[in-house]
Amino acid sequence: MSDPVQVAPGVHRLGSPLLGFYLVEEDGAYTLVDAGLPAHFDQLLTLIERLGGDLHDVEAVVLTHAHADHLGIAERVRTEAQARVHVHGADAQRARQPGGTDHERGLLPYLRRPAAARFVAHVLRGGARRVPRVEDLHTFVDGAVLDVPGRPRVIATPGHTHGHASLLLAGRGVLLAGDALCSRNPLTGRAGPQVMPSAFNASTERALASLDRLAGVEADVVLFGHGDPWTGGVAAAVERARELGPS
Ligand SMILES: [Zn+2]
Ligand SMILES: [Zn+2]
Repeated sequence: MSDPVQVAPGVHRLGSPLLGFYLVEEDGAYTLVDAGLPAHFDQLLTLIERLGGDLHDVEAVVLTHAHADHLGIAERVRTEAQARVHVHGADAQRARQPGGTDHERGLLPYLRRPAAARFVAHVLRGGARRVPRVEDLHTFVDGAVLDVPGRPRVIATPGHTHGHASLLLAGRGVLLAGDALCSRNPLTGRAGPQVMPSAFNASTERALASLDRLAGVEADVVLFGHGDPWTGGVAAAVERARELGPS
């Protein structure tokens, strides 16, 4: 666990160095973008308190996708803050039934790497195996501008999961890329913007194709589910990801 930091105007990064999720503030109301692991709930409470708010000021949880390490406290925030949980329609079933995988490759080839062992231990310790299902969901489609604090615009970026979405905070020049990209590979430790490793993707080919959708997006700051923020603009991040290729 690490202390939350403000990574863009009104955007705070929660989680740990290995796994990030974000609190977006607008006029004293909040949207949580992704929901970390069950162990992260107290970290959210502490941050909101520090910002002078209350858990009930969290109006929405918007999921970039429904993997367990992005879903951890979604149901708890939904019930305790009466927040609405939003996800792309193609990932809704997964949010209702966390756990199952449709990854194109097994984890085994990676496990001898120290980074992989560290990441897997980290998510298990944080409660990845006991993530509650989300009982009430609102689904969105590509291109929607969500009526939640921060008003993120949905850019469908399938591949990592079938319903993966990136979220653009247009006025702030911030792209929340979820796991469409990462800036540190959680299984190999490779640094730099890149698509996620094949062991975590439904289709790496599709994830690479989705980069075309991001290439023209205008934002200076890119925030990831895994790795530190990138401040060199979306186009350069996409270019780097294409150079680095799959893993
Ligand atoms: Zn993921
Ligand atoms: Zn992830």
